Parts: sequence; structure tokens; C-alpha cells
Amino acid sequence: SPPPAGAIRPIDRKSVHRICSGQVVLNLGTAVKELVENSLDAGATNIDIKLKDHGAELIEVSDNGDGVEEENFEGLTLKHHTSKIQDFSDLVHVETFGFRGEALSSLCALSDVTIFTRHKAAKVGTRLVFDHNGKMTQRTPVPRQQGTTVSVQQLFYTLPVRHKEFQRNIKKEYAKMVQLLQAYCIGSKGVRINCTNQVGQGRKSCVISTAGSPSLKENIGAVFGQKQLQSLIPFVQLPPSEAVCEEYGLNTADMPPNLYRITGFISRCDHGVGRSTTDRQFFFINQRPCDPAKVVKIVNEVYHLHNKHQYPFVVLNIGVDSECVDINVTPDKRQILLQEEKFLLAILKTSLMQMFGSDVNKLNVNQKLLDIAGNLKKTLPEETEKPQVEMLSDSETESPSSEGKRTMTLAGLRESFSLHQTPEGNFRSPKKVKQQHSSPRQKLLDTTVSTGKTQKAVFTKEPGGCHKMDSKVSILSKYLRKLEDNSDSGFCSISESDAGCSPPEAGSCIKSESAIYSEEEFCSTEEQLQSECLKTAGCSKKSLDWDGQVLGTEPKSDQENDRTEQSKFSQEANSSSPRGKRLKSRNFKSKAEDLEAGKYPEVKNTSADVLVEVKKKIVPLEFSMKVLAEKVKKVIQQQQKRTETENYRRFKAKISPGDNKVAEDELRKEISKEMFAKMEIIGQFNLGFIITKLNSDLFIIDQHATDEKYNFEMLQQHTVLQGQKLIVPQNLNLTAVNETVLIENLEIFKKNGFDFVIDENAPVTQRVKLVSLPTSKNWIFGPQDIDELIFMLSDCPGVMCRPSRVRQMFASRACRKSVMIGTALNVQEMRKLITHMGEIEHPWNCPHGRPTMRHIVSLDMIS
Ligand code: ADP
Ligand code: MG
Repeated sequence: SPPPAGAIRPIDRKSVHRICSGQVVLNLGTAVKELVENSLDAGATNIDIKLKDHGAELIEVSDNGDGVEEENFEGLTLKHHTSKIQDFSDLVHVETFGFRGEALSSLCALSDVTIFTRHKAAKVGTRLVFDHNGKMTQRTPVPRQQGTTVSVQQLFYTLPVRHKEFQRNIKKEYAKMVQLLQAYCIGSKGVRINCTNQVGQGRKSCVISTAGSPSLKENIGAVFGQKQLQSLIPFVQLPPSEAVCEEYGLNTADMPPNLYRITGFISRCDHGVGRSTTDRQFFFINQRPCDPAKVVKIVNEVYHLHNKHQYPFVVLNIGVDSECVDINVTPDKRQILLQEEKFLLAILKTSLMQMFGSDVNKLNVNQKLLDIAGNLKKTLPEETEKPQVEMLSDSETESPSSEGKRTMTLAGLRESFSLHQTPEGNFRSPKKVKQQHSSPRQKLLDTTVSTGKTQKAVFTKEPGGCHKMDSKVSILSKYLRKLEDNSDSGFCSISESDAGCSPPEAGSCIKSESAIYSEEEFCSTEEQLQSECLKTAGCSKKSLDWDGQVLGTEPKSDQENDRTEQSKFSQEANSSSPRGKRLKSRNFKSKAEDLEAGKYPEVKNTSADVLVEVKKKIVPLEFSMKVLAEKVKKVIQQQQKRTETENYRRFKAKISPGDNKVAEDELRKEISKEMFAKMEIIGQFNLGFIITKLNSDLFIIDQHATDEKYNFEMLQQHTVLQGQKLIVPQNLNLTAVNETVLIENLEIFKKNGFDFVIDENAPVTQRVKLVSLPTSKNWIFGPQDIDELIFMLSDCPGVMCRPSRVRQMFASRACRKSVMIGTALNVQEMRKLITHMGEIEHPWNCPHGRPTMRHIVSLDMIS
């Protein structure tokens, strides 16, 4: 018999497999990465990657590696089956990319896998087909060269949700995959890697291609073009300096000799030489591409000290003894634990400071001399500054010359100052404090405290009378909320704020309080309420009649009033509220008085029960909870509106440069596009500003800035820049991927005045030639603007965008054609400017960043 439902039992193996596989192969990138790593592990020198529909349809990786032996066919795709290690101790010295034996089995679970392979010792190739459990289902001999081809069809189709997501985001997945592949292309010396993509039945296009060069430098050139090489300097390793060690709390004497061996290349730090993003940063530990977060951080930090607005191109390999690393941290092996990581950071910091320090120095010297006499430039060729600033030399691990070391650099100066400071106190302590402050938990605390405060502030401001009213409302509303499942926000905020002072049991109080409430508030609408009650509550007249009388339908006499009151007393006498008790005692007292006076002789002789029975008159109090709830809601809403306008100042920012950000945020939050049309024009001020009024708020608007912004946005949206033909088509040396991005977005380039000829048959990176450039009187555009557009378009393909310099040009055009300060405007002209503000995306700043509009005052605050 099956075990009971709650019993703990193992998940069946097939399900476990499906569950875990999606964690090994996360995306297109990991799928391709795992296959390429397998090929590299098999000693391939030639790897071909074929994608169909960016990899969504097919990923096929072929190599000329060792191939798979026949006896390994079965184990190839089984979970945790590997030829690379046998036990855990092997892991320390593992030199292959793979060792977990998960990739092929996971791919089987997530897609349809077919493998063609011919081992170097086999006479013929074999085609193997596997099912989702990694079990071989077909095996046929096929002709094949030595090596292996793994074909993955319809990745993720066994996980429907992920599959949909995957197909939806395929372009992004593809871009990330290319990024990952670039690392393997650069890092695999002597291996030719070629990747193509075919969309539908279209042409195959090259994604990336290297020539199998043994030099890192040439691989970089193959992937990113020769131009990229010109901006790089080789990494020159230095021992960590005292100052930096001190900063990290290290002692140089403790450092094991030859712990880290770092080689590679990095952008020069001259202005404009770096990149606008971190898109070209590749880190390797023992040739394994990975993401060492702290290393990435320190490299970028040091670079930023010298080139504030850019990021470097980076290729760095960190060589370290394999006993000092743990590569088995995550299934994709991209997080790596390093022993003595702080020394690594210290080495990196010291070395980079030195490399860039001399660079900066050189730049300053050059500039000064040039200022005095331009022709001195010749006497200071770059080559004299050895070796850090040298263009790429062939030796990739050149050591710094003594001359380079001796030069006094800015970085060195900075260091000597930091030495002065460190003994006096913990140099890093302020940073630490800051970090603690901004921890997510602290932030949470901060916000709770502050919201608590504001709530308090809001509600203590309320006048006492109002507050009393609220508590009544809150009791009712609480009760009503229980009845109707009404989660109106108005109810919540008020009842919450009053939680501390409302009587403990709403149920017991509701009788007395609601009675008062209805007397005070709804006297005039009793009739209405009653008839509504009939309708809404579905009470028939009969059911009302059954109770006897309807409130207010009988003429009232004193006697009846008396009786009613008595019944009320007796009702209340039953309740335990203080009020009830008080009434009770009064009741008895009055009765005693009455008895004394002999007013009720008949009472004397009868029991109390009889008395009540005789005098009792049932007066049904008709009311509908629903109607009441609605009315209460209305009252609460009105109340809230009032308190809101009283207590909530929507615009608090001062009109001052320091408050610009706050002011803009407030405006963005409070003013929607359609509000501009509703603004009343008060008039022009000082021939430069328009004063408008919306409800009780007055605003001041800069007539020039706002017109400029409008004109700018219109130019951005609608201008088609005129291109001028080049006499000779210009080669652009784009990477294969960038070339594809350009070809896929030709229309957008055209709108920006760039035109190209595409030669589909030319080798990749040579397919595109520039034939036309945008022109404008004082503006010269060039390939750097194309690079920028490509960068923007690879992030959001197909979305209209402009190079920053075109934007600058539009900004200056917009400025010239806009209403100037000092021009008198009539109401229509002002109205037009204000209406325009409602038609554009970002009305808050002119293209140069000048504010367009500010809140002056709320008239409520004055009156
Ligand atoms: P791992 O790489 O961790 O060993 P995989 O699932 O990626 O695990 O591969 C399983 C095994 O299949 C490898 O250990 C290797 O022996 C074999 N293999 C996979 N791909 C290839 C290939 N391209 N050429 C030769 N052998 C391969
Ligand atoms: Mg593998």
C-alpha cells in the first residue's frame, strides 16, 4: 500500500534529475560554455559552434578533439559520470574545465541531445541519440573525422515555463552567451573557435571567430579588432606596497613567495580611451574564465581614480597554485574561492596604481610643455616612458624597469599621504561605519522609524474634536469591516492610528455609540435610510410589520416616549458598559422616587416582570449595514481629504540648486501630463517666467528652458539627419557581433545620417563599409558615434536612439530657436508653452539640465 500522505520519502530519481538539471544549465550561455569546455578538455584545436535562431532551435558544438571511446558511450550522459576525476582528492590538481559530470546529463534532461563522435583509435564514427534520462536509445555508425559533435535541440523545452521565458528573452540570452564565449576565445591560446548563427532559413552569420593564435594579444585582436589593441597596456605586476598592505591589514613579510602570477592587458587610463561600460572585462584564474567579484571591484576602482567616467577593457589571468583555490563553489564554477585573497587585491592595487600613476604623470608633463611650445611634443615620444605606458610589446609579462619605478608619480604621492594617516586611526573605519549604515536591515529600520514618526506627526496635528469623531468612526468602521469584507484604505489608516485609544471591544460599544452616531449624523436621512434599507437589505414590508412598528410612523406622545425610554433603559441595563451601569442606577433611583410618590399604584402589586411586559413596546430600529457602511466611508473619505490637504505639503523643496533633485522628484510625483492643460495662467514675471496656478498651488516656469526642452524633444523624435556621401567607403573594423547589430538596425543609423554598404560575401568584420556621414555646419561625426550607437542598440535592439553628440547638436539647435528671456509673451503664447509641457516625456529640465519649473507656494499655507 502507498505510504501516508505526510510521510518523508525519497523523490524518485527521474524527478530529482529534472529538478536539478535546470540548476546546472541555467541559460544559453552555460549550455554553450559547457560544450565548449568539453571540447577544450578533449584537446581540440578547432571548435565550431553552430546556432539556429540564436540557439533557441539548435546549439551544435563540433570539435577535432580526442573523441569518445566506445566503452564510454553509455556513461557519457549519465549523472555524475566523468572521465576527469575519480575521487575528491583529484579535485585539487584538476586541470580540466569539467569534473562534475553533470553537463551532458543535464542537457539531456532539458532538450533533445544527439552526439556524433569518433575516437582517435576508432575506424568509423558513431551517432548516438539519448532520451531525457541520459539513456542511449539509438546507436548507428556514421562517417566522421576524429572528434565530437554535440547537438542540442530545443533547449529547455522540458521545462515549459523556463522555455517560454527563454524564447521571449532569446536576444538577451544570446548577447550574454556571446560575452561568455568571448572569454573562451581570448583565453584559449592555440585553439581556433568559430561561432555562427542562422535565423530561420536566412544566411549564416558569423558571431565570433579566432584564428587559433598562441598569443593572447592576437586573440583579443581577433575578437575585438586591432583598434582595441592600440588602447591597451600590458599588466605589470609589482609586489604589494607597504601602504596598500597596511590598508588591507596585511604584513608584507607574511606573504608566501610567488603566490600569485598575474598577466594580461588593461586599457590605458587617458581620457576617452576606456569604455563606457564594463562590457569587455575578462578575468581568469589559472586560465579558467570566472567572476572574481572583489578583483573586478578593485580593478575598476583603481581605474576610476585615473579615468573617472570610464571603465577599462580588462583581460587578466591570475596564476595561483591549485592548492590555494577552490573552484567547486557553484555548478558553473564561476565563483572561485582563493586563499590569501587580500594579498591578491593588494598586489593588483599596487601594480595598477603604479601603471596608471606614471601614465597620468606623463600626460601632465606633456600638456604643460605643449602649452608653452607645441613643437616640444616630438622630444617626448611615448616610448621614453618605459615600460608601463608602452604600446603592447610582444612579451606579455615584461617587468618594470628601474627607471619606471623611480619616477615620482601621483599615485606614489597619494600613497605617501595615506601612510601618514593610517597610524592615527583605522584608515578604513569611516567606510565601515557607512557600510553598516546602509545595510538592508538598517535601511528597513530607518524607514520604519521614519514612517512611524510621520504618522504620529500627522495625527497629533488633528484638532481634538476631529479626533473624537474619528474614534467613533473607527469603532464603526472596524465593525463594518468585519461584516463586509471591505478593505478600503480609508478605514485602515484611521483605525490603525487609533488602535491604541479605541475601546477594547467594538461589539459591546457599537450599540451605544452607534445610537449616538445615528442620532447626531443621520437624523435628517432617517426616512431615506429606511427606504434604502428596504431595497438593499431585501427586507419585505411584511417582515417589518411583523416587528410591529416602523420608527417614526406613529405619532409620538409623552407616554410613549416614556415607555420607549424605559425599554431603552432596560436594554442598557443588560449591557455592561459604564454608561449602562450609570443608567441602571438612575433608573432604579427614579423608580424608587416614583414609588414614594405613589405614582404607579399598580406597580406595587405586580412583579417587575409583569411591569416590563405591560409597558414594553418594541420599536424596531431599521437600518442597513451596507448603506451605513457607504455613508461612513464617504464621511471618512471627506475627512481624509481634509486632513490630507491640511497636513500633507506636497511641495517642500526649496528653489535652490541644492534642492533640484528633490524638487524634480516632487514635481514628477505630483504633476501628471494632463495637469499642464488644467493650469491657469496668472501672468508673466520679469519677462522671463510664467506664473501658473493649479488648484491652490502656484508654479513658476522658465519660458526659455521649457520651450527649449520641447523643441529638443521634437528634434530628437522627428529629425532625419542628412548624410553626406564619402568619396571612399570607409572600413569600420567592427567585431562580428557589432557588425550584426549594425546590420540589424540600419534604419536607425539612417535616421541619424549614417549609411553603409553591406557586402554579405566579405569576411566577417569586413562586411560593413561606411558610405555616408551626418553633416551639420559645426559638427563632425565619425566612427566613434557609430560605436556608441551600436552599444546602445545592443542593449535595446530596434529602439530609436541618438548618439550623444547628435543630442548635443539638437540641444544647441533647440536653444537657438526657443523663446528668449526678455521676450514679452501674451496669454496665448504662454498657454502654448504650458500645453507643450504636457506633450513631452521629461518636462522638468532643459537639455542642458536647467530646471524648467518650480513650485512657489501653496495658497492654503497663506490663507
Ligand atoms: P564533465 O565535463 O564534468 O566530465 P560532462 O557531462 O560535461 O562532464 O561530460 C561527460 C564526459 O563526456 C566527459 O567526462 C568526457 O569524458 C566526455 N565528453 C564530453 N564531451 C566530450 C567531447 N567533446 N569530446 C570528448 N569527450 C567528451
Ligand atoms: Mg563538461
